[in-house]
Amino acid sequence: MLQPSVIPKHTDSNGWWHILQSGPPPKVLNGRKSARNVVVGAGVCGIATAFRLGELCPDDKTILIDAERAGFGASGRNAGFMLNVHSHGPPKRIDILKRNMKLWASGLSDLRNRVEKFQIQCDWSEAGRFYGAAGPDGEKHIDEIAQTLEQLDLERTWLDADQMESRIGTRFYSRGLHTPGNALVNPAALMRGCAQHLPLNVELFEDSPVTEVEKIASGGYVVKTPEGEIYCDRVVLAAGVFLRHFGIGKGRIVPMATYGSLTAPLNNAQLAQLGTGEAFGLLGGSEYGATIRLTEDKRLFVRNYFHHTPNGPVSGKTVSGPIADLHRKSLRARWPELANLPFEHSWGGIMAFTWNDGSIFGEIQPGLFAVLTNDVSPMTRGTASGRLLADLMEGHDSQLLDLQLSLPEARRLPPRPFLDLGIAFQRAKLHFAARDEF
Ligand SMILES: Cc1cc2nc3c(=O)[nH]c(=O)nc-3n(C[C@H](O)[C@H](O)[C@H](O)COP(=O)(O)OP(=O)(O)OC[C@H]3O[C@@H](n4cnc5c(N)ncnc54)[C@H](O)[C@@H]3O)c2cc1C
Repeated sequence: MLQPSVIPKHTDSNGWWHILQSGPPPKVLNGRKSARNVVVGAGVCGIATAFRLGELCPDDKTILIDAERAGFGASGRNAGFMLNVHSHGPPKRIDILKRNMKLWASGLSDLRNRVEKFQIQCDWSEAGRFYGAAGPDGEKHIDEIAQTLEQLDLERTWLDADQMESRIGTRFYSRGLHTPGNALVNPAALMRGCAQHLPLNVELFEDSPVTEVEKIASGGYVVKTPEGEIYCDRVVLAAGVFLRHFGIGKGRIVPMATYGSLTAPLNNAQLAQLGTGEAFGLLGGSEYGATIRLTEDKRLFVRNYFHHTPNGPVSGKTVSGPIADLHRKSLRARWPELANLPFEHSWGGIMAFTWNDGSIFGEIQPGLFAVLTNDVSPMTRGTASGRLLADLMEGHDSQLLDLQLSLPEARRLPPRPFLDLGIAFQRAKLHFAARDEF
């Protein structure tokens, strides 16, 4: 029997979610139901799995269930970069990059198809992304990113400090690199939209925390929530970083929190400070550098700061206090004229890091499956992995599934407190290296 030791319950805002028009109320699981499949977790992985199971098993019912609203967890709290490729540090082996790119491309294409087919209003834009370098670490890394893109024969354009200033209105960056191929979105709108357009044989229950998954003697499982239970043949755990609270991937997943803040839409005078005033997405040259966006609806978004959070999310008060102050510092450093622009929302989310860019994917015990994306292009990779898990369950072979199965399993981490010390050291090193890009 699996009983999660922690249930997700965010106490902070999620700007992307709160700026959306309110949608239909949640359908909470109540009483006894039955289904062929139950997918636990309506994040990017769970939605992709449920979607594909719905397609592959048209005569069977699949239930997708989440402790909160679909799109309220990490998948709807992120910076909104749906990446075709991403790599920090010296270029990796070309075969590994090409393998990963196939997964990212497949995930990106699935998301794009869904947005187009269902007309999901999530500000999907394929204007590409910038990498911005400030300081020696950023300069070194941006060269490495350019080398990786070159190795993959991907389009890239260098911008000097003047060109960066003309485009985004700041001389903060000594150099920039632009590359197309990714999408930028409001991630909560994307996830909510996908969850609202599941196949008809997939039923979504929200605000329904799974408290127990029990194997039953007659075969199959019962999935329990405070107010209901579902009898099913197969269970998929797609609980993201919470997977380890079900006892899966324990000692292999590092929960890292990071934070975002969003302003109100800028007026014309404020927009005039931002170069052309067109929407953009910028990732730091340094690995831990700040992510900055000007959204399609003209809000500024800032993401920075990572920390290890083995004991669950930080409180809403910390997020709207010291964390929002850090984000303000980032704004002030880039656009001093906008230093006092208030943030409407500040929030955090937890993502799963693995040591070796490894994955958790497959059948854990008969009828019980798990899927986890990791910290490298997680949204597109998670979409691909979710879909491929359904393929695996249904015996639907493909080259892409072989490729997913060839990914290394998330490697076992050293025990605590050695792990905590190692992460603290690495994090301090990366934050120090990125100090000019905060
Ligand atoms: C601030 C921030 C910025 C980021 N930026 C980017 C970015 O730009 N691009 C990118 O690709 N990635 C980004 N990421 C990472 C990315 O968002 C995550 O890696 C990804 O969303 C993980 O998806 P998931 O489906 O595995 O997990 P989640 O999205 O966390 O989904 C898991 C779901 O399981 C549910 N769940 C857990 N336990 C239970 C339970 N007991 N009962 C029922 N439901 C349960 C949770 O409520 C949750 O909704 C960012 C993350 C953060 C926090």
